[in-house]
Amino acid sequence: MDCLFCKIIKGEIPAKVIYEDEKVLVFEDINPQAPVHTLVIPKKHISTLLEITGEDNELLGYLFQVANSIARDKGIADKGFRLVINCNREAGQTVFHVHLHLLGGRTMSWPPG
Ligand code: AMP
Repeated sequence: MDCLFCKIIKGEIPAKVIYEDEKVLVFEDINPQAPVHTLVIPKKHISTLLEITGEDNELLGYLFQVANSIARDKGIADKGFRLVINCNREAGQTVFHVHLHLLGGRTMSWPPG
C-alpha cells in the first residue's frame, strides 16, 4: 500500500519517533505549525475518519489517551493544547492515514484557518 505513514510505521521512511507500542506510533511533524506539533497515528491503516467503524472504538479511545500522555510529557497539558483531525481535502487532509495533530506551546486562535 502506498501510504506515507504506513512506510514510517514500517521504518522505510525516517521520522523522529517519540513513542511507539503495538497499536500506536507518535512522531514529530516534519513541518511544525506550533512549538509542539506531534502526530499520533494508529498502526492500523484507516484512510480517513469516515472509514472508522465500531471495531475501532477502543483504538480511537486509546489514541486520545496517548495524546494526553504526550501532552503531559511535553509540559503543555495544563497550559492547553489542541487536537486536530482533518478529514478529506477541504479540511486540509494531505496524508490519507488517520492521524491526530497534537498542537501546543503557543496561544491558538479560533476559528481555525
Ligand atoms: P494532514 O494535512 O492533516 O493530512 O496532515 C499531514 C501532516 O503530515 C502534515 O502536518 C505534514 O507536515 C506531516 N508530514 C508529511 N510528511 C511527513 C513526514 N515524512 N514526517 C513527518 N510528518 C510529515
